[in-house]
Amino acid sequence: MSEVEKAQGAAPGGDTIFGKILRGEIPTKFIHEDDKCVAFHDVSPQAPIHFLVIPRKAIATLTDAEDSDEQLLGHMMLVAKRVAKEQGLNNGFRLVVNNGKDGAQSVYHLHLHVMGGRQMHWPPG
Ligand code: AMP
Repeated sequence: MSEVEKAQGAAPGGDTIFGKILRGEIPTKFIHEDDKCVAFHDVSPQAPIHFLVIPRKAIATLTDAEDSDEQLLGHMMLVAKRVAKEQGLNNGFRLVVNNGKDGAQSVYHLHLHVMGGRQMHWPPG
């Protein structure tokens, strides 16, 4: 099943695989963790380096983020660029948020994709 097909079948609501990761129910090596967010490598990398930054707070989509999440979202972006540097992405990287059905979101727990280690192209598919 393609990533887009997976996304078409996904829907917001309830627990997600990222909730299980946050609770330690799915053993996952964190490459960053703090009181607000964690980062870990994507299980299906789309670039030589591909990791996710997810908030501990269960926000389903960017659309669901509230004004009170402003600091959290800014923090996640700063974590993304710090971890990108630690991962050796000194030549740049791509930051992506897939949002909702048309955005091809498949896991309904907000996350930043950080991808690098190869030349990215534009426009995306
Ligand atoms: P999205 O399609 O934007 O919702 O992205 C969800 C991402 O989560 C995909 O890139 C998946 O490969 C990734 N993913 C799903 N399950 C896991 C897992 N257990 N560990 C790491 N990444 C995962």
